[in-house]
Amino acid sequence: MTFVPFVRTVLGDIAPAALGVTYAHEHLVIDGGRPVAIEPDFQLNDVERLTAELRAAATAGLEAAIDMMPADCGRNPELLAELSRRTRVHLVAATGLHHEKFTGPVHWSLRATEDELADLFAADVETAIDERDYTGPIVRRTSIRAGVVKLGGSLGGPSERDRPIFRAAAAVHLRTGVPLHTHCEAGTGGLEQVRLLTGAGVAPERISLSHVDKVVDRGYHRAIFESGAFVVYDQAFRWGDAANGTLQLLEWAAEDGHLGQVMLGLDAARQSYLAAYGGWPGLAFLLLGFSDQMEARGLDAAARRRMFVDNPARAFAFAEVAR
Ligand SMILES: [Zn+2]
Repeated sequence: MTFVPFVRTVLGDIAPAALGVTYAHEHLVIDGGRPVAIEPDFQLNDVERLTAELRAAATAGLEAAIDMMPADCGRNPELLAELSRRTRVHLVAATGLHHEKFTGPVHWSLRATEDELADLFAADVETAIDERDYTGPIVRRTSIRAGVVKLGGSLGGPSERDRPIFRAAAAVHLRTGVPLHTHCEAGTGGLEQVRLLTGAGVAPERISLSHVDKVVDRGYHRAIFESGAFVVYDQAFRWGDAANGTLQLLEWAAEDGHLGQVMLGLDAARQSYLAAYGGWPGLAFLLLGFSDQMEARGLDAAARRRMFVDNPARAFAFAEVAR
């Protein structure tokens, strides 16, 4: 049988070409959990406000978003599905585990074996995400499946705590074809993450690295591109009065011929970033103000289309699994 690539959304599998204009690292829903206990501004669970926010972005051209909240971090897959049904924006849900600051020092994952972690992540991908977000030993599965494994990496590269989680994700990728996505703490550690995952058998083009535009270093980014992995630049609105490092990196990537590995996102994981909560810049920003800024720096509609449409369709498609 011929393998047909697909992207796994909360409402079912779709052809990669159907994804369209995509934000590659978002947080549409954060419904409690440790992140919200640490920072109440992270709470994103008001269906009316979130619908309004997503509709405004859809009006600006958004067609899909990858929600990057992994297990036991405030996932609510039913709410994501409801938002997708209401707005017709394709949404992809994640499994995996976040940075240790969001799982804490006594988390169940610290006592799980690598195989047990792989089985939990794989069940979210193949069967369905736990209604209770793996917050406890009782699991009740929804009908909504995860389409990406998100991994929280530590400063400078995977820590002792991170390594079994990364290896478990690599095993799940080899078993299911699911794409992998990492959090780079302060933008660092991307190369070490790629090395660990490719060492465990994952092809680099199945990996995407987020937050790396926090490090405005051309050599670091060239090395990531040479590794074959994708990047998600998601810091566009966070530069204040300083020179915009995200725009600088985009210019360099274009000059170096690496736009085929760049995706964009907002990582707008706070009420204070969303217009529907009275915040700034609002989810539509990348397609409005920031697209104008990119245009002014020579990143024309064709370049933006690669980053918003063509690259996500490849980066978030499931790979064929060797049998
Ligand atoms: Zn994020």
